[in-house]
Amino acid sequence: MTDYNVIVIGAGPAGYVAAIRCAQLGMTTACIDHRLNAEQKPVLGGTCLNVGCIPSKTLLDSSHHYYFMQKQAAAHGIKCDGLSIDIAAMHARKFKVIKILTHGIASLFKKNKVTHIPGNARLSGDKQIEITAHDGSTQILSADNIIIATGSSPVQMPVAPLNENIVDSTGALAFDTVPPRLGIIGAGAIGLELGSVWSRLGSKVTLLEALPDFLVHADRHIARVVQGELKKQGLKIHLNAQVTATSVHSQEVTVTYTDKKGEHTLLVDKLIVAVGRQPNTTDLEVPLNTQGFISVDTHCQTDIPGIYAIGDVIGGPMLAHKGSEEGVMVAEHIAGHKTHAVSYEMMPYIVYITPEIAWVGKTEAQLKSAGIAYTVGQFPFAACGRARASGDISGMVRIMADTQSDRILGVHICGLSASELIAEAVLAITLKSTIEDLVKTIHAHPTLSEATHEAALAVKGRMIHG
Ligand code: FAD
Ligand code: AMP
Repeated sequence: MTDYNVIVIGAGPAGYVAAIRCAQLGMTTACIDHRLNAEQKPVLGGTCLNVGCIPSKTLLDSSHHYYFMQKQAAAHGIKCDGLSIDIAAMHARKFKVIKILTHGIASLFKKNKVTHIPGNARLSGDKQIEITAHDGSTQILSADNIIIATGSSPVQMPVAPLNENIVDSTGALAFDTVPPRLGIIGAGAIGLELGSVWSRLGSKVTLLEALPDFLVHADRHIARVVQGELKKQGLKIHLNAQVTATSVHSQEVTVTYTDKKGEHTLLVDKLIVAVGRQPNTTDLEVPLNTQGFISVDTHCQTDIPGIYAIGDVIGGPMLAHKGSEEGVMVAEHIAGHKTHAVSYEMMPYIVYITPEIAWVGKTEAQLKSAGIAYTVGQFPFAACGRARASGDISGMVRIMADTQSDRILGVHICGLSASELIAEAVLAITLKSTIEDLVKTIHAHPTLSEATHEAALAVKGRMIHG
């Protein structure tokens, strides 16, 4: 007799969602997590709620309000003399948001009868887990099924070891003053979002990116537009930049990097290392793939029957919603439901900067290399009434459709509320919609979503407002 039907290791968006769904399906479920909050109390929510998605968006919103008041409010006829920022208050608000949401998960666990076990979990063979509590005491629990959802941690760079001045994303969410000069290694989603927060609050931000192209996975056209917008905001982005050394003297970081023109030196007050995330696989004796992620099949089951893995620890898009989808799928699979593999090709990707970037489906580059004949329709927010009214007209909607079947293959948006607008595109692609379906869909006026409608019309050469 086992202690639980299911034990989930990790209470991030993959693990806590899996645990709730397992319990909803009638399985006795426990969820183990060793994370402690700022008050050294056990906390649910994983990276996402504590040091990831939520605190970054909280600071992005606060810094956006400051930037708006400073640079854009006057154009709306709003005067704000004597504007200032209170970083401590900003962080206090961030912690309040985190507290509400993490306590919300605790309530959901209670409501659904998921047992939260704080502590570090170690697989100890034959579906047994050894748990070391924060006071050092240990216990062994068994389960019919184990779901590993241990997530990921920031990749560290030997040339930039962390200290008071060189920090990872967690450190960058907690600066207690605005660093006058801020360097960031890595211009991916995390580097750009953190760079935007501190740039809006007054830092002079320089990003060093190893790849030759900006936002390599995004639509090329949109990446160029966004790069230009960030430049206007004062963010410097150096591509092809390989950091070779760092040193800290008297609170100043010297970053040495090379690019096509040779060796350069960047002097900053703080340096953020944001070069990606690596899976947390310590203490888990399950087969890993060549990149160090846990190997799983299409149902997220490892080579060991009854042991599953989901979320960042199995790689693929390292996104909260991807892990949650896998969590639901695995719970239903364990419960014996007929389940389908997660549709990774319908995954929305979002970068929460200004302008926001969001996309789903294929890029032009992918369609070209697959030899698929496609038609592009594009509509700029500058021609959208609602965007004009808001004063934020940067960006566009671009849609790619199969020339023969009319099926929507990719939607790429940059601009105000792109993160919300993409939901319609995700639904359209998931339902295998055609451009004609989108054209026939009535979009309210005046809304930003009219830009999506017009882009669909543009695919057909029937645009009204462009
Ligand atoms: P995690 O959230 O990492 O949770 C895993 C949990 O398991 C952790 O609490 C960990 O402490 C615990 N754990 C690990 N090992 C053990 C063990 N042996 N015993 C007990 N507990 C253990 N994604 C988005 O989709 N949108 C965003 O806007 C976004 N913004 C981000 C911003 C930042 C700054 C960062 C760092 C990440 C962001 N992400 C975003 C990524 C997102 O946070 C991750 O994809 C997501 O948290 C992964 O969920 P997970 O459940 O797999 O793992
Ligand atoms: P992401 O994977 O979205 O978190 O983004 C990480 C970014 O860091 C990617 O754009 C990588 O190309 C970039 N990157 C990775 N390693 C390095 C490095 N050594 N120097 C600079 N940028 C890097």
